[in-house]
Amino acid sequence: MKMSKMYMPTLREVPSEAEIPSHQLLLRAGMIRKLVSGVYSYLPLGYRAIKKVEKVVREEMDRADAQELLMSAIQPRELWEASGRWANFGPEMWRLRDRNDREFCLGPTHEEYFTDLIKDEIKSYKQLPLNIYQIQTKYRDEKRPRFGLMRCREFIMKDAYSFDVDEEAMKVAYENMWEAYDRVFTRLRLNYKVVQGDTGAMGGKVSHEFMAMSDVGEGLIAYCKDCDFAATDEKSEVVYSIPSKEEELKAVEKVLTPEVKTIDALVEFFGIKKHNFGKALVYKASGKPVVVVVPGDRELNETKLANYLKVPGHELEMADEDMIKDISGANKGFTGPVGLKKEVKVLIDKRVTTIKNLVVGANETDYHLINVNYGRDFVAEVVEDLLLVQEGDSCPKCGKELHMDRGIEVGNIFQLGTKYSDSLGAKFLDENGKEKPFVMGSYGIGVSRSVAAVVEQYHDEKGICWPFIVAPYHVIITVVNSKNDEQKNLGEDIYRTLKKKGIEVMLDDRNERVGVKFNDRDLIGIPVQITVGKRAAEEIVEFSLRKSEEKQEVKVGSLEELIFAAFEEEEFSLD
Ligand code: ATP
Ligand code: MG
Repeated sequence: MKMSKMYMPTLREVPSEAEIPSHQLLLRAGMIRKLVSGVYSYLPLGYRAIKKVEKVVREEMDRADAQELLMSAIQPRELWEASGRWANFGPEMWRLRDRNDREFCLGPTHEEYFTDLIKDEIKSYKQLPLNIYQIQTKYRDEKRPRFGLMRCREFIMKDAYSFDVDEEAMKVAYENMWEAYDRVFTRLRLNYKVVQGDTGAMGGKVSHEFMAMSDVGEGLIAYCKDCDFAATDEKSEVVYSIPSKEEELKAVEKVLTPEVKTIDALVEFFGIKKHNFGKALVYKASGKPVVVVVPGDRELNETKLANYLKVPGHELEMADEDMIKDISGANKGFTGPVGLKKEVKVLIDKRVTTIKNLVVGANETDYHLINVNYGRDFVAEVVEDLLLVQEGDSCPKCGKELHMDRGIEVGNIFQLGTKYSDSLGAKFLDENGKEKPFVMGSYGIGVSRSVAAVVEQYHDEKGICWPFIVAPYHVIITVVNSKNDEQKNLGEDIYRTLKKKGIEVMLDDRNERVGVKFNDRDLIGIPVQITVGKRAAEEIVEFSLRKSEEKQEVKVGSLEELIFAAFEEEEFSLD
């Protein structure tokens, strides 16, 4: 493509709302534009990158014997009522009505719809296994759309669904998709980790997330360097115990603590360790108050709490001051498990039962209780594990130390079981003519998010440094002085020759200052740079790679070989 004809509206300034490199660079490079919060247009260069990711995804899904189809984004309410997710999906679902007042949603995902599609047509075990997928626009009215393509309200997802005769066969399908995902993210040259994930609103018990490692990732993962344990912070089991101490149980006392507002202040005031404090948090779960007590040195894991209470995540929130006062009779900050004013559900993390002589809020403004002991002074529902994992915890698998890192969730695979086939009545006849529900899996890849993840891992201070596999074009030819005929003609010659070989080439034939051209090409990040300048008459040009500082003067005749060598270095090949 000749750049004089191209729609590539680059920006000099970084838009102030763009906080992370991929968001800034994709905007500046004229690859995306925002319409409204979380809704973007993919401009020509950006759309080419998206199509490159789609191509890799398609190739690997097809290789894994999945078949592509395309479903509608519009789904009727009844399908979602059947699975119980019309209510459970909550405010993330975009809902709409037609002229006859019939209700629909714009699909945030498609488990119900795919199950419904096949249920009347796949009747026999002989037609299984089946894996069908689509690459399609998804809609989620996210609470906090941000970071450009990372968290959108409209985005492109590849979603696949597998249907099998039993658990065992479903696990084979799951492994098969896992391998396909490994191939996709390896080909996209992403540095990623596969981690155990929480199954959340999707259902089922087992899920794995593919995390592209990045400091700006919204996902936190805990992993072990000594074994293969890795899990999201939401999912990770916490192996942690309170250091045990020989201590006598003392008598409960009420202590005036008007100025003691934080845990650090409590530690100082009472001369205790942080874990001797029973931190009571008040939540509103589906409208009802719940008090949760965790050791004072640890954070509560809200996903574990929501799972334990069996409420959808969006129906769990911190209680407001009024609710706190209503149940405890005291201001915020003085809640505790002893002497609550109202009868409410009290949950405690198992480890709280092992702490002797606890300090807790007294349910009276400005007071704390000391020497409180579980069993003697209060009882509660004891939950095995409500804690959020943290750096230094013991690995649940091998006992060594856990480390924390950040990642971008680019893919997620789920073993669903029969949640959807049961609720939608999707059954087949097995070898003995017996009716059975399909055992399902579902598998998502964030296509548009993956483009942002690649930019996060491949950029420098000047712009994007695309790997060939995702690059909108492979080569950019910069004609230093477009008014010089020798340079212009040689640029066009090279452009035509390379294009004939199937190489995707941009020719910067614009009447711009050379500085502008150089800045733009670094910004848009095309991997091979060819500069046609002063030595055009001798058929000598400059060859460089975007990712390295090295530049070499070469004969035009050797360009092709150099380009193919660069492809090979990234294990990239043209079709
Ligand atoms: P997240 O935890 O980031 O909100 P999710 O777990 O809700 O994502 P899934 O339902 O697993 O998302 O969707 C499959 C894939 O779609 C995700 O792995 C991610 O790559 C992508 N995706 C999900 N939500 C968004 C979004 N709002 N914008 C862009 N991509 C998204
Ligand atoms: Mg997910």
